[in-house]
Amino acid sequence: MSEPGRCPACDEPALAPWRTVPGSDPAMPGDYALARCASCGSAVTLAPAPAEAHEAGAYGGGTPRGSGLAAPLLRAFDRRRLTFLERAGARPPGRLLDIGAGRGRFVAQARAAGWDAAGIEPSLRGMGGAQAAGIELQHAGIEDAVVATGSIDAATLWHVLEHLDDPGAALERIAGWLAPGGRLLVGVPNLASVQARAGGGRWYHLDVPRHRTHFTVEGLHALLRRHGLQPVATHHVLAEHNPFGLWVSVVSRSTRVPSWLYHALKRNAPLRSRDALVTAAALPLVPVAIAAELAFGLAGRGGTVAVVARRV
Ligand SMILES: [Zn+2]
Repeated sequence: MSEPGRCPACDEPALAPWRTVPGSDPAMPGDYALARCASCGSAVTLAPAPAEAHEAGAYGGGTPRGSGLAAPLLRAFDRRRLTFLERAGARPPGRLLDIGAGRGRFVAQARAAGWDAAGIEPSLRGMGGAQAAGIELQHAGIEDAVVATGSIDAATLWHVLEHLDDPGAALERIAGWLAPGGRLLVGVPNLASVQARAGGGRWYHLDVPRHRTHFTVEGLHALLRRHGLQPVATHHVLAEHNPFGLWVSVVSRSTRVPSWLYHALKRNAPLRSRDALVTAAALPLVPVAIAAELAFGLAGRGGTVAVVARRV
């Protein structure tokens, strides 16, 4: 937060105490107070994230269970991200930068699509994974990355912005890296979604305390505009995160570990447990969640959103 009470999204001095929610990761128990903006509806996690937040619990490393099965699905999701850029007028050839590149999977996909693609990644875990896959990334955060001014045609910030203590400062730097007319694709959870309301303090995409700002679309648009990035497209129908988020959030109301299936896949919760039975019993609800989230997305209330903005 830039100063107490000021919304990190829309910058209005309208933050007020909202609610206290349980930690979303079994490795980070306890309660966390949130404040909400009366102007744009975005929220912030007030207590700082523990220093090890991005290395512990679900982020502890190791290969997730079922990752072999998930690989084709993840590639399809990556291609979808490239489609969002293309539809907004950003096509190869050109320079693409993936910010928070993880293990470099999207960088590889963008290269295969014809982009001159690079990535920056702050975590050693991501760097190690990328190296193992033969993809070189710049080991840096947004604040210390070395990127030439105006050199980037398309940048992607996929589920990164909500993790940052100062999202405005990050966007200011990124806007400087983009060439005039360059495009930025941002993906974040949507606090104004139906699933956020249904999940309450156990909403899958709340991920407290790792998520620092909980954006609404209104708040994200305001933040982008303030940093010279004009939103040109907003997508609410996203197969990548939305149906799973809705289903897990509903099931999470009845499990002991929040979002048990996610944490079990990340080897962060015991596989043999009562929660496994509850989750198995809820499997028939998966098609219902897919259909419901599609309807919510078409109504502009998707669980996560993807926004493409143009550097003014
Ligand atoms: Zn606000």
